[in-house]
Amino acid sequence: GPSPEEILALRQAYVSPGIFHYYKKPIAIVEGKRQYLFDDKGRRYLDGFGGIVTVSVGHCHPEVVAAANLQNETISHTTTIYLNPNIALYAKELAAKMPGDLKVCYFVNSGSEANDLALLMARAYTGNYDAIALRNAYHGGSPSAMALTSHHTWKFNVPHSFGVQHAQMPDIYRGPFGSDDPDAGKKYAADVADLVRFGSSGKIAAFIAESIQGVGGTVVFPDGYLKHAYEHARAAGGLCIADEVQAGFGRTGTHFWGFETQGVIPDIVTMAKGIGNGCPLAAVVTTPEIAKTLATRIHFNTFGGNPVSMAQGRAVLKVIEKEGLQANSLKIGAQLTAGFNRLAEKHSLIGQVRGPGLMLGVELVKDRATKEPARDECAAVFEKCKELGLLIGKGGLFGNVLRIKPPMCITEADAEFMIEVIDEALATV
Ligand code: PMP
Repeated sequence: GPSPEEILALRQAYVSPGIFHYYKKPIAIVEGKRQYLFDDKGRRYLDGFGGIVTVSVGHCHPEVVAAANLQNETISHTTTIYLNPNIALYAKELAAKMPGDLKVCYFVNSGSEANDLALLMARAYTGNYDAIALRNAYHGGSPSAMALTSHHTWKFNVPHSFGVQHAQMPDIYRGPFGSDDPDAGKKYAADVADLVRFGSSGKIAAFIAESIQGVGGTVVFPDGYLKHAYEHARAAGGLCIADEVQAGFGRTGTHFWGFETQGVIPDIVTMAKGIGNGCPLAAVVTTPEIAKTLATRIHFNTFGGNPVSMAQGRAVLKVIEKEGLQANSLKIGAQLTAGFNRLAEKHSLIGQVRGPGLMLGVELVKDRATKEPARDECAAVFEKCKELGLLIGKGGLFGNVLRIKPPMCITEADAEFMIEVIDEALATV
């Protein structure tokens, strides 16, 4: 096959210039086995980012591959105009993982589509138009999802954000209310009430938040934030949407869904990425009452609920349960957090280590007192990790957060390797 240089040249000539690649000297990944990736030269890397928080049970997991292959060989496409067992069975299995009355599943192909549909649903159900999302949020690249997104890198200067307001980010590290303030959650949520009063018609369709901000740099909200934000949103007639695209499916370790870490039950939940382990599978789950609103109209999606994605989704769910991957996220997440906190004792570049389970962020700062973002240093650590055989992500509003969200099957030995590599990378910067 073509070399990485040739692939890059082809990409530059023929593929969207808007896409970006990681690393100054990009690598070509040609194979994956569970938590490991292999480049074209056969070099092995530990995958600390899972194809952007998507490969939940590991690359090419044999049971997931077998389920998808079998379905491909049997029947791969029908659309929902005919009955196929997988869509019905998967919906039942997914609904069983949801709390409360969240029992009706809509299947689509990406997180963006899921959020578009969730907002449409909320608008149709409430009869209201305005929506409130959070600053620094990422909800996708299709028009409604991009309107909800508030991360400067992902914005285009087109007027599709009409009716969407962005509330103060509940960031206890950089915001005005810190972890020492027991009422921080309530105080940040007050901005949602203010936006309802001053930035909307007084009635809203929806409040949407990632349960833990992903692209935004693994921002974990203070206790009580979602509870209070939901109360303000519901008082204004709005539905509450939890975007679980990154935080869901066991990754937090303590809970299956990110919103459960905040003790709330949303009205609509959107999910993608990890639920399919790499196939185009996303879902919106809501209550029968809300689903009724859309029942009067046809909602159709050619590939949504296709037999192959459904078979793969069912296999992923089964593997998470059978292999205890949520418990593993808790265990390995605790090991990594302890390791990174140990590194913080000797590397003053580490400003904060945060995140539950295997949804981790390490924020790098030039100075702990001023919290000046260490963007260039973060980029250098990130490059050095690759040289040493570890692939991770980076992000945050200032590009200074190392994002560590590996497949949930990583082991204690992998975690030790990861800590050693990051230690060495920090030492060289
Ligand atoms: N929501 C969140 C929280 C995400 O992280 C992403 C993707 N990074 C999306 C939605 C959009 O998903 P997709 O790229 O599958 O459209």
